[in-house]
Amino acid sequence: MKALVLKEYRQFALEDFPVPAIQADEVLVRVRACGICGSDVHGMDGSSGRRIPPIVMGHEAAGVIAEIGGEVTSWKKGDRVTFDSTVSCGACWYCRRGEINLCDNRRVLGVSCGEYRRHGAFAEFVAVPQRILYRLPDNLSFEQAAMVEAVSVAVHAVERTPLTLNSSVAVIGTGMIGLLVVQVLRARGCGKIIAIDLDEGKLQLAKRFGATDTILSSAADLQEKIRTLTSGRGADAAFEVVGLPATVKIAIDSVRKGGSVTLVGNLKPQVELPLQAVVTRELTLIGTCASAGEYPACLDLIASGKVNVTEFISATPPLAEGAQWFERLYSGEKGLMKVLLKP
Ligand SMILES: [Zn+2]
Ligand SMILES: [Zn+2]
Repeated sequence: MKALVLKEYRQFALEDFPVPAIQADEVLVRVRACGICGSDVHGMDGSSGRRIPPIVMGHEAAGVIAEIGGEVTSWKKGDRVTFDSTVSCGACWYCRRGEINLCDNRRVLGVSCGEYRRHGAFAEFVAVPQRILYRLPDNLSFEQAAMVEAVSVAVHAVERTPLTLNSSVAVIGTGMIGLLVVQVLRARGCGKIIAIDLDEGKLQLAKRFGATDTILSSAADLQEKIRTLTSGRGADAAFEVVGLPATVKIAIDSVRKGGSVTLVGNLKPQVELPLQAVVTRELTLIGTCASAGEYPACLDLIASGKVNVTEFISATPPLAEGAQWFERLYSGEKGLMKVLLKP
């Protein structure tokens, strides 16, 4: 089969690669679309230490089952599927509680980090265990399905946050994940959804996707504006979808006493915390990572149009053009969001 192989840091080759052998509980998926993730782009130069060459990257994919292992019973050839980006073990303490994102033995597809090397889906075929497969609704395209991981990050973050009907919420950072959070909050029945970003263009997108109000993060009276929109109290909850000291502070300042701040972004490994504000105002800080079983709900949300992912797909080039698209994303080309490669 053909695969896009990271040969050296920042150096790709489309080459013949052995079709992965499947275990008894695995299926072979013929990949139809696979998204380039930010973690792939950051990983390709060696800075993350999680894409040690040679490696076939790619963990945001959808396709058709081409072959099934001897113990696979609920899936057959021809089924249209997507799968978790992470292979959870299914047996550890966390997996048995359903917290598969916290699995002790989790291995991300398309990652090599010294501990393990698991080839991913920038290839014609990928092998995945049946326990991480999900069936695609008939009206969902492979391209839409390849976006499910991003949607699941947003849905998991919203699910971990204490919200009630008509809650007021601030979303700090409206890149792709932030815009998905806005859409999911709208579906969740929030009242005020206040989008905050430093880019006016992104705020306009946020408005289209369901934000009731938008504020530039550079506004001198940012906190006053939020209070005005929330009966003088502050928002019930805030989502921090950037991960920098300044935006974490905005999130903490924007909630009411007793409110919660859900931390999604993590650009910086450490930030300074306004400790007294958190303690004396009795705030709840919530970490959230990946997802744990939300894929079926996410696929339905996309299929029903409640969450729009199509607008985030910037291009769907063939796998053979992968190297140049990686370079474009790496250089931070403005306006590029999700690129899906098609083997
Ligand atoms: Zn990803
Ligand atoms: Zn596990």
